[in-house]
Amino acid sequence: RKVLVGGGTGFIGSHLGELLIQKGYNVLNVARMPATNNISWTKLEQEGLPKRSLAVVNCAGQQFMDFTKSWTPGFKQNVQNSRVYTTKALARAINQSNDKPKVFVVVTGVGAYEPSEVNKYDELSPTTGRDFFSRLTIEWEKAAHVDPPVRLVIIRSGAVLGRWGGMIKNMFVPFYLGLGGRIGSGKQYLPWIHIDDLARLIQFSIENEAVTGVLNGVAPQVITNDDFTKSFARALKRPAFLPVPETMLNLLLHYERAMIMTKGQHVVPKRVLEYGFKYKYANINEACKEVAHLWPKK
Ligand code: NDP
Repeated sequence: RKVLVGGGTGFIGSHLGELLIQKGYNVLNVARMPATNNISWTKLEQEGLPKRSLAVVNCAGQQFMDFTKSWTPGFKQNVQNSRVYTTKALARAINQSNDKPKVFVVVTGVGAYEPSEVNKYDELSPTTGRDFFSRLTIEWEKAAHVDPPVRLVIIRSGAVLGRWGGMIKNMFVPFYLGLGGRIGSGKQYLPWIHIDDLARLIQFSIENEAVTGVLNGVAPQVITNDDFTKSFARALKRPAFLPVPETMLNLLLHYERAMIMTKGQHVVPKRVLEYGFKYKYANINEACKEVAHLWPKK
């Protein structure tokens, strides 16, 4: 029972790997650096899909909330290519294989939906491609096309909450020091999912033959940035009274990228619930409590 994971070394990929190994799967990563359980993208392209792969997952993508990298055309290209090309490479390997996996799961983002304080999105809602992230996601999901009978599952993930990556890792120190606060008005929606639930949803998608198409990888509880700020501060037992001005983020990060934090979408996991998936963290307070620890848990 082999699962091939593109970007399996990252925050989401490594968490998924741990869960799958626990459940008795063999996990092989596709990564840029060699290691025991890694194969390279070049090897994948030259030799095709490893034999007897049951499922293929893509969690690869250049981190874009990297404050040390300016938002230049070159960097944007890298953000785009690291998602679109890796997805294409995996899809091509699947399509060319004569020992096909059952399913291809691609983790994309809720950035597919245009930010709005009014619209409500489920999986059937349209994507407009009017901003950078929406355009990127459309390209990225197009690259995932695989021929039937291989099932394609696209998980549009919200902000993934886990202690050691993504948003929490970036915000932990300022919040821990009592320097946290809402972003802008705090009224923008913040679609979110706990890392355990995202990994479980990927496992669910691998194991349930009925699951296909787009899933919104978000918790059913819709919250705003202000709700998150209060919940995370409470979990850390710290005040969070220092709002971060939107103009400052636009200046520091470039408005196109800052949008990920300054704007948001009201997203519901309609199809995920219809399939009967059960969340472990359906409530933001529970999720924040789980991530609010300073040291690794035993
Ligand atoms: P990480 O940065 O932790 O991991 C991403 C992995 O992608 C890395 O381990 C790396 O593997 C690989 N990678 C990075 N740059 C490149 C590149 N230029 N070419 C090929 N591979 C590359 O990210 P996350 O785990 O947080 O996110 C994974 C995916 O999920 C991304 O596509 C992200 O957009 C998406 N997502 C994440 C969310 C979050 O909150 N974290 C929310 C919504 C979507 P290696 O170095 O081994 O090659």
